[in-house]
Amino acid sequence: GKLTEVAQAEVDSLVSALRGSVHRDGEPEFDEARSLWNAMVDRKPALVIRALGTADVRLAVDFARENNLLMAVRSGGHQIAGHAVADDALMLDLSNMNSIHVDPRARTARVEPGATLGDVDKETQAHGLAVPVGVNSTTGIAGLTLGGGFGWTTRKFGMTIDNLISADVVLADGSIVTASNDQNADLFWAIRGGGGNFGVVTSFEFQLHPLGPQVLSGLIVHPIEQAPQLLREFAKIADTASDALTVWSVLRQAPPLPFLPDEWHGREVLVFAACYTGPISEGEKAMEPLRALGEPIADVISPHAFVDWQAAFDPLLTPGVRNYWKSHDLETLPDGAIDTLLNAISGLPDPACEIFIAHVGGRMAQIGPSDTAYPHRSSHFIMNVHTRWEDSAKDDTCIAWARQLFDDMAPFATGSVYVNFMPADEEERLSGAYGANRDRLAAIKARYDPENLFRVNHNIEPAIS
Ligand code: FAD
Repeated sequence: GKLTEVAQAEVDSLVSALRGSVHRDGEPEFDEARSLWNAMVDRKPALVIRALGTADVRLAVDFARENNLLMAVRSGGHQIAGHAVADDALMLDLSNMNSIHVDPRARTARVEPGATLGDVDKETQAHGLAVPVGVNSTTGIAGLTLGGGFGWTTRKFGMTIDNLISADVVLADGSIVTASNDQNADLFWAIRGGGGNFGVVTSFEFQLHPLGPQVLSGLIVHPIEQAPQLLREFAKIADTASDALTVWSVLRQAPPLPFLPDEWHGREVLVFAACYTGPISEGEKAMEPLRALGEPIADVISPHAFVDWQAAFDPLLTPGVRNYWKSHDLETLPDGAIDTLLNAISGLPDPACEIFIAHVGGRMAQIGPSDTAYPHRSSHFIMNVHTRWEDSAKDDTCIAWARQLFDDMAPFATGSVYVNFMPADEEERLSGAYGANRDRLAAIKARYDPENLFRVNHNIEPAIS
């Protein structure tokens, strides 16, 4: 259906019933609302509803269903595939629903979906607490959680979904339910990795852990010439590290960081980014082997406020730039993979491009692949190729570089992929994203959203019974 086919009286009654606001093309806030983190996405919804609460979400869901409108849901707007907006759709924007309430005695937090990771970190750290989230503070908590969620503290505390206690969900039929281990347990299982396929989450309840306010963390920067040996050592450290130690490798051209001598700016480097989720003194010991490697250009590992460390990569991951990502899950980092990475880094199509090798496992791997919808518990490394550039004339070159690297790395990869790192053109990889949990997800989808109202996403089609 199209919004233009809906009677004006119905639209008017929706607008007057909402607590939040409605924005159309040419009206204030429309362009701001439809713009996503990834500037490659440029779509025009028929209207944007900026919800202020669960009641608004229900009104929007009912309106979309009753009028047969395509519906897109936006929280932080960071998803690389850009499913938060669709042409001619009703776009439900939750970014104004961003309150957070921490219960320090129970060590839990109630988080609305429009909160960013930075919002969550600031409120939880005010109580010396934290929930594991991702590494860029402007990312939305909602999309991150619904896909799984991992970052610096995941090896110690598990994935974001492993710390989800319950969620309030508006279903396709407009009903408002709670999903937890005790209520709608199948739905609770499905939203922990199955994305926005099952309903609109209006509140997340998380378990928190004591942490900080400072964590031992920072960067160690090496010349790329030393990378072959150092990446081998990195793989060894990753194999034996305690769950509290997380080290990621980043390959890129050195940004003009104040602690790097000028002559290194713009040259290819290998960066170890490390964080210890525990006492500083313990971290100092745990990081010794890493810091003893090679002859770094700079080592700026030191105690940092956890909230600041959580935002350390923000300057490299700013919104409004063109992005194309390719991701592989890896269990090991053999020499062939290292050669492939180094070959790619010698031909970066733009200075903003980078390759991240996240080190996961630990607590994340102690949870079974079918305990939550997120199935890839045995991934050890998650490679994410952040291809970034500004000039649309470079689209083809940059995308081709990413695809080539992706193909060259495929022999070393597991074939699975983290759904939150999938670009829009990878729908053929959906079986690799949902893995062995796909059939169960399809059955739960048939129960909660049989008409596939929530289909602007990495879609799970309802099972046919
Ligand atoms: P949005 O684009 O707003 O939402 C994405 C989709 O999720 C929507 O289209 C919708 O289908 C669904 N959705 C969103 N909100 C709701 C809701 N309330 N109810 C139901 N469905 C909903 N991931 C990690 O795990 N770790 C990282 O370290 C990490 N780093 C990142 C760094 C950057 C710079 C970026 C851009 C992304 C990163 N990600 C990371 C990936 C991130 O998890 C996804 O991009 C995620 O989708 C972001 O959530 P969002 O709310 O911002 O996205």
